[in-house]
Amino acid sequence: MGIIVQKFGGTSVADPQKIHNVAKAVIREKENGNDVVVVVSAMGHTTDHLIKLAKEVTSTPDSREMDMLLSTGEQVSIALLAMAIQSHGYKAVSMNGQQVGIVTECIHSKARIVDIKTDKLQKKIEEGNIIVVAGFQGVTPDGEITTLGRGGSDTSAVAIAAALKADRCDIYTDVEGVYATDPRIVPNIQKTDVISYEEMLELARVGANVLHPRSVETAKQFNVPLRVRSSFKLDNLGTLIIGVDNMEIYKPVAGVAADSSQIRILLSELPDIPGTAAKLFGSLAKSNISVDMIIQSLASNGTNSIAFTVDAEDFESTMTTLEALKAELKAGEILIDKDIAKVSIVGAGMVDRPGIAADMFRSLAENNINIKMISTSEIKISCLVEKENAKNAIKALCKEFGLESTESADVKGDLPDV
Ligand code: ADP
Ligand code: ASP
Ligand code: MG
Repeated sequence: MGIIVQKFGGTSVADPQKIHNVAKAVIREKENGNDVVVVVSAMGHTTDHLIKLAKEVTSTPDSREMDMLLSTGEQVSIALLAMAIQSHGYKAVSMNGQQVGIVTECIHSKARIVDIKTDKLQKKIEEGNIIVVAGFQGVTPDGEITTLGRGGSDTSAVAIAAALKADRCDIYTDVEGVYATDPRIVPNIQKTDVISYEEMLELARVGANVLHPRSVETAKQFNVPLRVRSSFKLDNLGTLIIGVDNMEIYKPVAGVAADSSQIRILLSELPDIPGTAAKLFGSLAKSNISVDMIIQSLASNGTNSIAFTVDAEDFESTMTTLEALKAELKAGEILIDKDIAKVSIVGAGMVDRPGIAADMFRSLAENNINIKMISTSEIKISCLVEKENAKNAIKALCKEFGLESTESADVKGDLPDV
């Protein structure tokens, strides 16, 4: 008998009928002889609605109060799922983040989990319960409620699986696994049976929102075997994400993703002296703002331009920081570009194959897509393009790297906003 952690996303618990279907999937795992901990997200688009509601009250909601508000979504679904399981004659108990003891750092709206106390969970499991845990939320050592960032229930599930040394963590969602790109953009796309933690982590970080990046990070750190599978086709095994040692099996490009949530900021006419970049990025870091792509270029008049991208969520605080620094940095203009998307290819097999980057740039050029910035890491190449070109770029790159399939994926969601 093992411990299985299951996670069901918002679409899987969107209405009472779907909650009963989830209850059946949970009971099925229990009937297989396993102890089951099930993590759920808020129903349907609840989190989006709560954010909209807050914005109708004030354009600048306080981050502590936002966490207080958003954490209610998951509390609704855990209670309903526990009731549904009980109605089928099984023992179940719901627990919110605080009751479980999911301890996080005190950074509202993007807290990281630092510890999970397992004693209460273990006790309830030993009493024969199926445990239904609220995803996406935690509590600071001072008792403040926090949330883990959009899509964070995946991370709650993997962290609980790691803490309980579970046999497996199954992420049930509205698609049949991890595909080479978002199947809503390219329906004729290959499904991946097995992918390494490293590749999945890069893909999640560059916009494949099928998994929250920190869930993959945690799975990798604690070696939790992770599966992404369909809540509607329970017999399908989906995609297994594991550590793989043999580099020979890697494809040059395993996946393509886009992220249109970034904004590009350019500071012009900066003096070409030591310390400018340190001052700029040091101040942004102090304000807890993560910078993604960076390019510095020297103009013919001997001044520098620095362009960088930040997440749209951090835009206001970035501008506040820059306005305060502008005089000290002796910067000229600050130019903003919001109509951008970052398109990336990821694959552990691209290591030492310089031709892959050239193929990517050629494919974009052939489709008349201009590249504004480029960044690379060992297993990833990203190009910043006009937002309106993002979908075409994804389609072109899937074709270029042989990721299309003759079969069409079964997709339920709306077309994403890239
Ligand atoms: P959940 O509510 O279950 O957490 P999400 O919407 O967060 O579901 O994630 C599932 C969605 O991720 C799918 O509907 C799919 O369109 C999208 N997606 C993006 N990239 C990929 C990919 N590479 N493989 C599979 N799904 C992807
Ligand atoms: N409900 C949260 C969100 O919509 C967390 C999650 O779904 O994982 O982002
Ligand atoms: Mg999700």
